[in-house]
Amino acid sequence: MAKVYYDKDIQEAVLKGKKIAVIGYGSQGHAHAQNLRDNGFDVVVGVRPGRSFERAAQDGFSVKSVKEAAKEADVIMMLLPDEQQTKVYKEEVEVGLEAGNALAFAHGFNIHFTQIIPPENVDVFMVAPKGPGHLVRRTFEEGAGVPALVAVHQDVTGDAKDLAFAYSKGIGSARAGVLETTFKEETETDLFGEQAVLCGGLTSLIKAGFETLTEAGYQPELAYFEVCHEMKLIVDLIYEGGLKNMRYSISDTAQWGDFVSGPRVVNEETKQRMKEVLKDIQNGTFAKGWLLENQANRPMFNAINAREQNHPLEKVGEELRELMPFVKNPIKQKEVVVNA
Ligand code: NDP
Ligand code: MG
Ligand code: MG
Repeated sequence: MAKVYYDKDIQEAVLKGKKIAVIGYGSQGHAHAQNLRDNGFDVVVGVRPGRSFERAAQDGFSVKSVKEAAKEADVIMMLLPDEQQTKVYKEEVEVGLEAGNALAFAHGFNIHFTQIIPPENVDVFMVAPKGPGHLVRRTFEEGAGVPALVAVHQDVTGDAKDLAFAYSKGIGSARAGVLETTFKEETETDLFGEQAVLCGGLTSLIKAGFETLTEAGYQPELAYFEVCHEMKLIVDLIYEGGLKNMRYSISDTAQWGDFVSGPRVVNEETKQRMKEVLKDIQNGTFAKGWLLENQANRPMFNAINAREQNHPLEKVGEELRELMPFVKNPIKQKEVVVNA
Protein backbone atom coordinates (compact mmCIF):
# COMPACT_ATOMS: atom_id res chain seq x y z
CA MET A 1 0.00 0.00 0.00
CA ALA A 2 1.21 3.53 -0.81
CA LYS A 3 2.43 5.49 2.20
CA VAL A 4 -0.24 7.80 3.54
CA TYR A 5 0.99 10.68 5.73
CA TYR A 6 -0.88 12.01 8.75
CA ASP A 7 -0.36 14.92 11.18
CA LYS A 8 2.01 12.88 13.35
CA ASP A 9 4.32 12.15 10.37
CA ILE A 10 4.78 15.81 9.39
CA GLN A 11 6.96 18.56 10.89
CA GLU A 12 5.65 22.03 10.15
CA ALA A 13 8.72 23.97 11.39
CA VAL A 14 10.10 24.42 7.86
CA LEU A 15 7.03 26.54 6.97
CA LYS A 16 6.44 28.26 10.31
CA GLY A 17 8.71 31.32 9.94
CA LYS A 18 7.78 31.88 6.32
CA LYS A 19 5.33 34.36 4.83
CA ILE A 20 2.70 32.59 2.73
CA ALA A 21 0.88 34.53 0.00
CA VAL A 22 -2.45 32.97 -0.86
CA ILE A 23 -3.21 34.33 -4.33
CA GLY A 24 -6.98 34.35 -4.89
CA TYR A 25 -9.72 34.20 -2.27
CA GLY A 26 -12.27 31.95 -3.97
CA SER A 27 -13.26 28.36 -3.30
CA GLN A 28 -9.77 27.09 -2.36
CA GLY A 29 -8.24 30.47 -1.50
CA HIS A 30 -10.49 31.37 1.44
CA ALA A 31 -10.14 27.87 2.86
CA HIS A 32 -6.33 27.69 2.62
CA ALA A 33 -5.91 31.20 4.03
CA GLN A 34 -8.24 30.61 6.99
CA ASN A 35 -7.02 27.11 7.84
CA LEU A 36 -3.35 28.15 7.67
CA ARG A 37 -4.05 31.17 9.87
CA ASP A 38 -5.92 29.05 12.42
CA ASN A 39 -2.87 26.76 12.52
CA GLY A 40 -0.57 29.69 13.33
CA PHE A 41 0.96 30.39 9.91
CA ASP A 42 1.76 33.86 8.58
CA VAL A 43 -0.63 34.53 5.69
CA VAL A 44 -1.07 37.47 3.34
CA VAL A 45 -3.86 37.36 0.75
CA GLY A 46 -3.18 38.64 -2.78
CA VAL A 47 -6.18 39.54 -4.96
CA ARG A 48 -7.40 42.19 -7.35
CA PRO A 49 -9.72 44.92 -6.03
CA GLY A 50 -13.35 43.72 -5.82
CA ARG A 51 -15.49 41.15 -4.10
CA SER A 52 -12.73 38.82 -2.97
CA PHE A 53 -10.61 41.69 -1.74
CA GLU A 54 -13.49 42.98 0.41
CA ARG A 55 -14.27 39.53 1.73
CA ALA A 56 -10.68 38.74 2.71
CA ALA A 57 -10.40 42.11 4.44
CA GLN A 58 -13.67 41.46 6.30
CA ASP A 59 -12.24 38.13 7.39
CA GLY A 60 -9.38 40.03 8.99
CA PHE A 61 -6.55 39.28 6.57
CA SER A 62 -3.79 41.54 5.43
CA VAL A 63 -4.90 41.94 1.79
CA LYS A 64 -2.65 43.27 -0.94
CA SER A 65 -2.46 43.35 -4.72
CA VAL A 66 -1.26 40.10 -6.25
CA LYS A 67 2.02 41.79 -7.13
CA GLU A 68 2.73 43.08 -3.61
CA ALA A 69 1.70 39.85 -1.90
CA ALA A 70 3.83 37.73 -4.27
CA LYS A 71 6.79 40.04 -3.75
CA GLU A 72 6.78 40.00 0.03
CA ALA A 73 6.07 36.29 0.48
CA ASP A 74 8.44 33.32 0.66
CA VAL A 75 5.79 30.84 -0.44
CA ILE A 76 3.29 31.85 -3.13
CA MET A 77 0.24 29.62 -3.52
CA MET A 78 -1.62 30.18 -6.80
CA LEU A 79 -5.35 29.81 -6.14
CA LEU A 80 -6.81 31.62 -9.12
CA PRO A 81 -8.92 29.80 -11.72
CA ASP A 82 -6.52 27.65 -13.79
CA GLU A 83 -7.30 29.48 -17.01
CA GLN A 84 -6.46 32.89 -15.43
CA GLN A 85 -3.20 31.83 -13.84
CA THR A 86 -0.78 32.18 -16.75
CA LYS A 87 -1.61 35.83 -17.43
CA VAL A 88 -1.59 36.85 -13.77
CA TYR A 89 1.61 34.87 -13.18
CA LYS A 90 3.42 36.58 -16.06
CA GLU A 91 2.21 40.06 -15.19
CA GLU A 92 2.28 40.05 -11.40
CA VAL A 93 3.86 37.02 -9.80
CA GLU A 94 7.02 36.27 -11.75
CA VAL A 95 8.64 39.65 -10.98
CA GLY A 96 8.22 39.02 -7.26
CA LEU A 97 9.91 35.62 -7.22
CA GLU A 98 13.30 35.61 -5.52
CA ALA A 99 15.87 32.83 -5.47
CA GLY A 100 14.86 30.22 -2.90
CA ASN A 101 11.17 31.21 -2.82
CA ALA A 102 8.55 28.55 -3.41
CA LEU A 103 5.78 28.69 -6.00
CA ALA A 104 2.87 26.42 -5.16
CA PHE A 105 -0.25 25.11 -6.88
CA ALA A 106 -3.40 23.22 -5.90
CA HIS A 107 -3.66 21.53 -9.31
CA GLY A 108 -0.92 20.60 -11.75
CA PHE A 109 -2.58 21.90 -14.94
CA ASN A 110 -0.43 24.94 -15.73
CA ILE A 111 2.89 23.33 -14.87
CA HIS A 112 2.13 20.00 -16.51
CA PHE A 113 0.77 21.57 -19.69
CA THR A 114 3.69 24.09 -19.70
CA GLN A 115 1.54 27.22 -19.48
CA ILE A 116 3.66 28.45 -16.57
CA ILE A 117 7.41 27.84 -16.70
CA PRO A 118 8.90 29.03 -13.39
CA PRO A 119 12.49 30.25 -13.11
CA GLU A 120 15.01 27.57 -12.20
CA ASN A 121 15.94 29.13 -8.87
CA VAL A 122 12.64 28.56 -7.02
CA ASP A 123 11.01 25.52 -5.48
CA VAL A 124 7.79 24.42 -7.16
CA PHE A 125 5.36 22.19 -5.30
CA MET A 126 1.72 21.22 -5.24
CA VAL A 127 -0.80 20.59 -2.50
CA ALA A 128 -4.02 19.47 -4.14
CA PRO A 129 -6.96 18.90 -1.80
CA LYS A 130 -9.22 16.12 -3.05
CA GLY A 131 -12.43 18.02 -2.38
CA PRO A 132 -14.23 21.31 -3.03
CA GLY A 133 -12.71 24.34 -1.32
CA HIS A 134 -15.77 25.05 0.79
CA LEU A 135 -15.45 21.60 2.30
CA VAL A 136 -11.73 22.17 2.94
CA ARG A 137 -12.89 24.92 5.30
CA ARG A 138 -16.06 23.27 6.62
CA THR A 139 -14.42 19.95 7.50
CA PHE A 140 -11.49 21.81 9.12
CA GLU A 141 -13.91 23.69 11.39
CA GLU A 142 -15.51 20.36 12.29
CA GLY A 143 -12.11 19.00 13.35
CA ALA A 144 -11.68 16.88 10.25
CA GLY A 145 -10.06 17.53 6.87
CA VAL A 146 -10.08 16.78 3.16
CA PRO A 147 -7.33 14.41 1.90
CA ALA A 148 -4.68 15.92 -0.35
CA LEU A 149 -2.00 15.03 -2.87
CA VAL A 150 1.45 16.61 -2.70
CA ALA A 151 4.10 16.73 -5.43
CA VAL A 152 7.38 18.46 -6.15
CA HIS A 153 8.23 19.80 -9.61
CA GLN A 154 11.42 21.66 -8.68
CA ASP A 155 13.52 21.45 -5.55
CA VAL A 156 16.32 24.01 -5.34
CA THR A 157 16.43 24.52 -1.58
CA GLY A 158 16.25 20.85 -0.63
CA ASP A 159 13.13 21.69 1.40
CA ALA A 160 10.44 21.57 -1.30
CA LYS A 161 8.96 18.25 -0.23
CA ASP A 162 8.98 19.17 3.47
CA LEU A 163 7.33 22.50 2.62
CA ALA A 164 4.62 20.75 0.64
CA PHE A 165 3.86 18.33 3.47
CA ALA A 166 3.92 21.13 6.06
CA TYR A 167 1.48 23.13 3.93
CA SER A 168 -0.83 20.13 3.60
CA LYS A 169 -0.85 19.80 7.37
CA GLY A 170 -1.46 23.55 7.67
CA ILE A 171 -4.69 23.32 5.70
CA GLY A 172 -5.87 20.31 7.72
CA SER A 173 -5.44 17.69 5.02
CA ALA A 174 -3.03 15.51 7.02
CA ARG A 175 -5.90 14.81 9.44
CA ALA A 176 -7.47 12.82 6.59
CA GLY A 177 -4.37 11.55 4.78
CA VAL A 178 -1.81 12.92 2.34
CA LEU A 179 -0.37 10.98 -0.60
CA GLU A 180 2.73 11.77 -2.62
CA THR A 181 2.35 12.01 -6.38
CA THR A 182 3.73 13.84 -9.43
CA PHE A 183 2.30 16.87 -11.25
CA LYS A 184 1.59 14.58 -14.22
CA GLU A 185 -0.29 11.96 -12.22
CA GLU A 186 -2.31 14.52 -10.27
CA THR A 187 -3.23 16.53 -13.36
CA GLU A 188 -4.32 13.57 -15.45
CA THR A 189 -6.21 11.74 -12.71
CA ASP A 190 -7.90 14.90 -11.40
CA LEU A 191 -9.15 15.85 -14.85
CA PHE A 192 -10.26 12.28 -15.56
CA GLY A 193 -12.07 11.94 -12.23
CA GLU A 194 -14.02 15.17 -12.59
CA GLN A 195 -14.87 14.56 -16.25
CA ALA A 196 -15.71 10.89 -16.41
CA VAL A 197 -16.97 10.07 -12.93
CA LEU A 198 -17.49 12.80 -10.35
CA CYS A 199 -18.89 15.77 -12.20
CA GLY A 200 -19.43 14.83 -15.84
CA GLY A 201 -20.26 11.17 -15.32
CA LEU A 202 -22.56 11.83 -12.38
CA THR A 203 -24.54 14.73 -13.85
CA SER A 204 -25.03 12.80 -17.10
CA LEU A 205 -26.14 9.69 -15.22
CA ILE A 206 -28.65 11.64 -13.11
CA LYS A 207 -30.06 13.52 -16.10
CA ALA A 208 -30.36 10.37 -18.22
CA GLY A 209 -32.24 8.61 -15.40
CA PHE A 210 -34.51 11.61 -14.82
CA GLU A 211 -35.27 11.96 -18.53
CA THR A 212 -35.93 8.24 -18.95
CA LEU A 213 -38.52 8.31 -16.16
CA THR A 214 -40.24 11.60 -17.11
CA GLU A 215 -40.30 10.74 -20.84
CA ALA A 216 -42.06 7.50 -19.85
CA GLY A 217 -44.76 9.61 -18.17
CA TYR A 218 -43.75 9.35 -14.52
CA GLN A 219 -44.01 12.43 -12.27
CA PRO A 220 -40.95 14.75 -12.35
CA GLU A 221 -41.05 15.21 -8.55
CA LEU A 222 -40.91 11.48 -8.03
CA ALA A 223 -38.14 11.14 -10.63
CA TYR A 224 -36.14 13.82 -8.79
CA PHE A 225 -36.45 12.00 -5.46
CA GLU A 226 -35.56 8.70 -7.09
CA VAL A 227 -32.45 9.54 -9.10
CA CYS A 228 -31.12 12.75 -7.54
CA HIS A 229 -32.10 13.27 -3.91
CA GLU A 230 -31.51 9.64 -3.00
CA MET A 231 -28.08 9.74 -4.66
CA LYS A 232 -26.57 11.44 -1.62
CA LEU A 233 -28.04 8.89 0.76
CA ILE A 234 -26.57 6.05 -1.29
CA VAL A 235 -23.20 7.77 -1.73
CA ASP A 236 -22.98 8.47 2.02
CA LEU A 237 -23.20 4.72 2.66
CA ILE A 238 -20.47 4.04 0.09
CA TYR A 239 -18.31 6.83 1.57
CA GLU A 240 -18.68 5.37 5.04
CA GLY A 241 -18.11 1.69 4.25
CA GLY A 242 -17.54 0.98 0.60
CA LEU A 243 -19.88 -0.63 -1.93
CA LYS A 244 -20.34 -3.54 0.51
CA ASN A 245 -21.78 -1.24 3.17
CA MET A 246 -24.27 0.28 0.73
CA ARG A 247 -25.28 -3.16 -0.52
CA TYR A 248 -25.75 -4.36 3.05
CA SER A 249 -28.22 -1.57 3.65
CA ILE A 250 -30.34 -1.87 0.50
CA SER A 251 -32.89 -4.62 -0.13
CA ASP A 252 -31.81 -7.85 -1.79
CA THR A 253 -34.11 -6.91 -4.67
CA ALA A 254 -32.14 -3.69 -5.13
CA GLN A 255 -28.86 -5.57 -4.84
CA TRP A 256 -29.92 -8.11 -7.50
CA GLY A 257 -30.95 -5.20 -9.77
CA ASP A 258 -27.60 -3.55 -9.08
CA PHE A 259 -25.79 -6.72 -10.21
CA VAL A 260 -27.80 -7.44 -13.34
CA SER A 261 -28.73 -3.97 -14.61
CA GLY A 262 -25.82 -1.72 -13.52
CA PRO A 263 -23.40 -3.31 -16.02
CA ARG A 264 -26.05 -2.94 -18.79
CA VAL A 265 -25.98 0.85 -18.27
CA VAL A 266 -22.29 1.40 -17.58
CA ASN A 267 -20.76 -1.28 -19.78
CA GLU A 268 -17.65 -2.10 -21.81
CA GLU A 269 -18.62 0.56 -24.33
CA THR A 270 -18.81 3.17 -21.54
CA LYS A 271 -15.40 2.08 -20.33
CA GLN A 272 -14.07 2.39 -23.87
CA ARG A 273 -15.37 6.00 -23.93
CA MET A 274 -13.71 6.62 -20.56
CA LYS A 275 -10.43 5.49 -22.12
CA GLU A 276 -10.95 7.98 -24.94
CA VAL A 277 -11.58 10.77 -22.40
CA LEU A 278 -8.38 9.76 -20.61
CA LYS A 279 -6.42 9.73 -23.86
CA ASP A 280 -7.58 13.27 -24.72
CA ILE A 281 -6.41 14.39 -21.29
CA GLN A 282 -3.04 12.64 -21.62
CA ASN A 283 -2.24 13.95 -25.09
CA GLY A 284 -3.21 17.56 -24.30
CA THR A 285 -6.34 17.70 -26.49
CA PHE A 286 -8.59 18.57 -23.56
CA ALA A 287 -6.20 21.22 -22.22
CA LYS A 288 -5.86 22.83 -25.64
CA GLY A 289 -9.65 22.96 -26.10
CA TRP A 290 -10.18 24.56 -22.70
CA LEU A 291 -7.44 27.15 -23.21
CA LEU A 292 -8.78 28.07 -26.67
CA GLU A 293 -12.35 28.23 -25.33
CA ASN A 294 -11.16 30.82 -22.81
CA GLN A 295 -9.27 32.80 -25.43
CA ALA A 296 -12.54 32.99 -27.38
CA ASN A 297 -14.40 34.27 -24.27
CA ARG A 298 -16.15 30.98 -23.58
CA PRO A 299 -18.94 30.84 -26.21
CA MET A 300 -19.60 27.11 -25.72
CA PHE A 301 -19.14 27.14 -21.95
CA ASN A 302 -21.71 29.92 -21.59
CA ALA A 303 -24.21 28.41 -24.02
CA ILE A 304 -24.11 24.98 -22.40
CA ASN A 305 -24.21 26.48 -18.91
CA ALA A 306 -27.37 28.45 -19.74
CA ARG A 307 -29.05 25.37 -21.21
CA GLU A 308 -28.08 23.20 -18.25
CA GLN A 309 -29.55 25.65 -15.75
CA ASN A 310 -32.90 25.31 -17.47
CA HIS A 311 -33.00 21.53 -17.36
CA PRO A 312 -36.36 20.36 -15.89
CA LEU A 313 -34.43 18.45 -13.20
CA GLU A 314 -33.03 21.76 -11.92
CA LYS A 315 -36.44 23.43 -11.87
CA VAL A 316 -38.22 20.66 -9.98
CA GLY A 317 -35.21 20.20 -7.67
CA GLU A 318 -35.25 23.85 -6.68
CA GLU A 319 -38.94 23.69 -5.76
CA LEU A 320 -38.58 20.49 -3.76
CA ARG A 321 -35.52 21.62 -1.83
CA GLU A 322 -37.39 24.77 -0.75
CA LEU A 323 -39.82 22.43 1.02
CA MET A 324 -37.05 20.48 2.77
CA PRO A 325 -35.73 22.89 5.39
CA PHE A 326 -33.21 20.30 6.57
CA VAL A 327 -31.52 20.38 3.17
CA LYS A 328 -29.19 23.24 3.94
CA ASN A 329 -27.12 25.01 1.37
CA PRO A 330 -24.62 26.97 3.45
CA ILE A 331 -22.65 27.84 0.31
CA LYS A 332 -25.66 29.48 -1.30
CA GLN A 333 -26.54 31.18 1.99
CA LYS A 334 -23.12 32.81 2.09
CA GLU A 335 -23.61 33.84 -1.55
CA VAL A 336 -20.29 32.33 -2.46
CA VAL A 337 -19.88 31.35 -6.08
CA VAL A 338 -19.43 27.62 -6.26
CA ASN A 339 -16.70 26.26 -8.52
CA ALA A 340 -16.01 22.61 -9.24
P1 NDP B 1 -11.98 30.18 -7.91
O1 NDP B 1 -12.63 30.27 -9.24
O2 NDP B 1 -12.85 29.96 -6.73
O3 NDP B 1 -11.05 31.48 -7.69
C1 NDP B 1 -11.57 32.69 -7.73
C2 NDP B 1 -10.57 33.67 -7.13
O4 NDP B 1 -9.62 34.08 -8.10
C3 NDP B 1 -11.32 34.88 -6.67
O5 NDP B 1 -10.67 35.39 -5.51
C4 NDP B 1 -11.14 35.82 -7.84
O6 NDP B 1 -11.24 37.18 -7.50
C5 NDP B 1 -9.72 35.50 -8.24
N1 NDP B 1 -9.44 35.87 -9.63
C6 NDP B 1 -10.03 35.36 -10.74
N2 NDP B 1 -9.49 35.91 -11.83
C7 NDP B 1 -8.54 36.76 -11.41
C8 NDP B 1 -7.63 37.62 -12.08
N3 NDP B 1 -7.60 37.69 -13.42
N4 NDP B 1 -6.79 38.37 -11.32
C9 NDP B 1 -6.80 38.30 -9.98
N5 NDP B 1 -7.65 37.50 -9.28
C10 NDP B 1 -8.50 36.75 -10.00
O7 NDP B 1 -10.79 29.10 -8.01
P2 NDP B 1 -10.75 27.68 -7.32
O8 NDP B 1 -10.56 27.86 -5.85
O9 NDP B 1 -11.86 26.83 -7.83
O10 NDP B 1 -9.42 27.10 -7.97
C11 NDP B 1 -8.15 27.52 -7.55
C12 NDP B 1 -7.15 26.41 -7.83
O11 NDP B 1 -7.46 25.30 -7.00
C13 NDP B 1 -7.19 25.89 -9.26
O12 NDP B 1 -5.89 25.55 -9.62
C14 NDP B 1 -8.06 24.65 -9.16
O13 NDP B 1 -7.81 23.68 -10.15
C15 NDP B 1 -7.60 24.14 -7.80
N6 NDP B 1 -8.58 23.26 -7.15
C16 NDP B 1 -9.85 23.69 -6.98
C17 NDP B 1 -10.76 22.90 -6.31
C18 NDP B 1 -12.10 23.44 -5.95
O14 NDP B 1 -12.71 22.89 -5.08
N7 NDP B 1 -12.62 24.52 -6.52
C19 NDP B 1 -10.42 21.54 -5.89
C20 NDP B 1 -9.02 21.23 -5.97
C21 NDP B 1 -8.14 22.07 -6.63
P3 NDP B 1 -12.58 38.03 -7.81
O15 NDP B 1 -13.52 37.76 -6.69
O16 NDP B 1 -12.07 39.42 -7.84
O17 NDP B 1 -13.11 37.54 -9.12
MG1 MG C 1 -9.99 19.65 -10.69
MG1 MG D 1 -35.58 2.13 -4.09
